[in-house]
Amino acid sequence: MTTARAFVIGHPIGHSRSPLMHGYWIAQAGLDATYDRRDVAPSALPDFIAELRANRWIGCNVTIPHKLAVMDEVDVVQDVARAMGSVNCIWWEGDTLVGGNTDATGFLSYLDICHPGWDKGARRALILGAGGAARAAAYGLRDRGLAVDLCNRTAARARSLASHLGAGIAGHGNDALPGLLADADILVNTTSLGMTGQPPLDLDLAPLKPSAIVNDVVYAPLETPLLKAATARGLRTVDGLGMLIYQGVEGFRSWFGVTPEVTPELRRILEDDIQGKTS
Ligand code: NAP
Repeated sequence: MTTARAFVIGHPIGHSRSPLMHGYWIAQAGLDATYDRRDVAPSALPDFIAELRANRWIGCNVTIPHKLAVMDEVDVVQDVARAMGSVNCIWWEGDTLVGGNTDATGFLSYLDICHPGWDKGARRALILGAGGAARAAAYGLRDRGLAVDLCNRTAARARSLASHLGAGIAGHGNDALPGLLADADILVNTTSLGMTGQPPLDLDLAPLKPSAIVNDVVYAPLETPLLKAATARGLRTVDGLGMLIYQGVEGFRSWFGVTPEVTPELRRILEDDIQGKTS
């Protein structure tokens, strides 16, 4: 039996925590497998995929800047990935190399775990940002039947993403924010504001309903200033680490046919890594 090999590819790729997470699951499941990071420059993407095919590696995660370009390199793009305009995971189905996206599922899975039944009666979602993470959150929340408003510093980017994703999603500039907060059942920050080294997200949460959920996809630090402010107001919160973990669960399952366990130990290992501790 040859060792099954999986990768995460991006450019740059040094920051990725996926090797830590998948390495943990591989050890837990006792699999003869490896998961490595590979820095792949945009011009080298076709060669990497050719290498993956030739060696029959079991697949890879795909991150910036390859999420769109890799669609041309696989045999089939899953409908969900096509609709999102982003592939973050590649696996084999028989002899067909499939490009899919597990980010929206990962986002929703963790939301469901944190607040079971949260979507009963929820009608509107307000998403801050219009980049890659916004794409997944908007797709997932619309899929649950919520009307989605995207607000972004660059209004044109929010409008363009909304028009790509289609019905039920509207794009705005940040000037629309104050008017949208009061109707939101869930507020999701997908901007990089609040991330270590970035300014905090400066937003008055007072207009939000007491029943609203505040979800920050930023996971470094784990408790962002936005989540602190939401907790102080007594609102329900969701941190960003769970989305990262649960999009990984989907990928692992597609490669190895095994659902990996999300243990408190795994979360602690990742938290320690984010906080720069060695465990
Ligand atoms: P991205 O595609 O580069 O988008 C960044 C977004 O942040 C854009 O909407 C950008 O607005 C906005 N932004 C950046 N600086 C800003 C500022 N100073 N003021 C206002 N808006 C600002 O990035 P991404 O991939 O979506 O990632 C965004 C964050 O989500 C990062 O912290 C990332 O680590 C996190 N993330 C988490 C997960 C997870 O699994 N938890 C997954 C993906 C990403 P403009 O369009 O105006 O530039």
